[in-house]
Amino acid sequence: MGRYDTSIALQDEARRYLAGGVSSNFRYHTMPVPLCFERGDGPYLWDADGNRYVDYVLGNGPAILGHTPAGVLDAVRRSLDMGQAYTALHRGELELAKRLTELIPCADLVRFDISGTQADQIALRLARAHTDRPKVIKFEGQYHGWADNILASVGPALNEAGPRDHPTAVLHSRGQLANAADNLIVQPFNDLDLVAATLDEHGQEVAAIVLEPVNCNSGVIEPEPGYLQGLRELCDRHGVVLIFDEVITGFRVALDGAQGRYGVTPDLAVFAKAAAAGFAISVIAGRRDIMEGVTSGVVHGGTYNGITSSIAACGAAIDELERDNGAAYRRMEHYGSQLIDGLNEIGRRRGVPLHAQGLGPIFTAVFNANGPMREYRDYKRTDEPMRLKFVEELQNRGVRTTARGTWFMSAVHGDEEIAFTLDAADQAAAALAS
Ligand code: PMP
Repeated sequence: MGRYDTSIALQDEARRYLAGGVSSNFRYHTMPVPLCFERGDGPYLWDADGNRYVDYVLGNGPAILGHTPAGVLDAVRRSLDMGQAYTALHRGELELAKRLTELIPCADLVRFDISGTQADQIALRLARAHTDRPKVIKFEGQYHGWADNILASVGPALNEAGPRDHPTAVLHSRGQLANAADNLIVQPFNDLDLVAATLDEHGQEVAAIVLEPVNCNSGVIEPEPGYLQGLRELCDRHGVVLIFDEVITGFRVALDGAQGRYGVTPDLAVFAKAAAAGFAISVIAGRRDIMEGVTSGVVHGGTYNGITSSIAACGAAIDELERDNGAAYRRMEHYGSQLIDGLNEIGRRRGVPLHAQGLGPIFTAVFNANGPMREYRDYKRTDEPMRLKFVEELQNRGVRTTARGTWFMSAVHGDEEIAFTLDAADQAAAALAS
């Protein structure tokens, strides 16, 4: 019996009924096939072969309280007993909206949706309506959902990406309209001078700057000191709407997101993933005058927006994350830092260029002899085959991480899991070194 035989058989069968064998292209990447999972509990997942994993994927970020978090599940169960789909205002929705406007610095008003992709779309539409301008600045290597008008330069090959100071907007999917990126201006992350120059030239056409304030989709790269503040000032000077895509960072790097952590308030923000600890929700939050667009001709719809179960989950997630003055965040910082330091130490000792960087609650582990990364192209130059091999070696030893090298922490990872993980990483690095 091979370790993944059952997953392989189920994946074979799935491909006969489910296009591509999975429900999102971003699930193709595990070796030897996309694994089939059966159960989760706390920081652990079990696959269909009965293999146990310490899970640092956490559903690509949402399960910040681990799997089957009792407080959240109880709240959802209680909500389900009252009916599951009103598609209308309910008290829970009003209460949560109030709470989020108190919690999220940029939130005069919020709206609920169910996915990051869709929330990013309404943020862009609100910005265009507010400014009556067409163009959007986005950053190379960042992801804002799979919709046509923003799915560009997410992970371009360096030989197609154009000059660093003037990147080409590279479409990311077959079937996108050829002109899908015509209104995008792509820039490298962490280079304020280039954004300033671009706005001097094109400012009158630019509706919004949209960014992941911590670059989490290609390495985990923090904004350099002054960078977010600099973007804020440039947006103010040119009348551009600053949008923080906090789909990952919201509730993760702090309850009030990267905007709270770094002290820079955008005009609009999108929270998703961790916001309901694993239930489908996204939150568009922002300045009253821009958000009010939805009452003057800007259309935002969605049958499941504000669905009772997700609203209940989000409220309960806040309760858990606020508990003991944010103990969950102290844990994630503590254990995440232990992993970052531990992985770097293993790399040095084993003589492999393993490089970990990021924040406690989210970080990256790549193979890079050039030290810290500050923008997408640094990440793209790291050794991808070696990273994928490392991810596979970890998986074979019961540690699950994302193929792109990102590790998500939860509030329930603890001493035992960290020791187990570093031991597995040490063996995996030794296997790579030989
Ligand atoms: N923005 C960012 C920063 C993301 O990481 C993601 C998802 N990985 C999205 C938007 C899209 O969110 P969803 O998958 O919920 O559509």
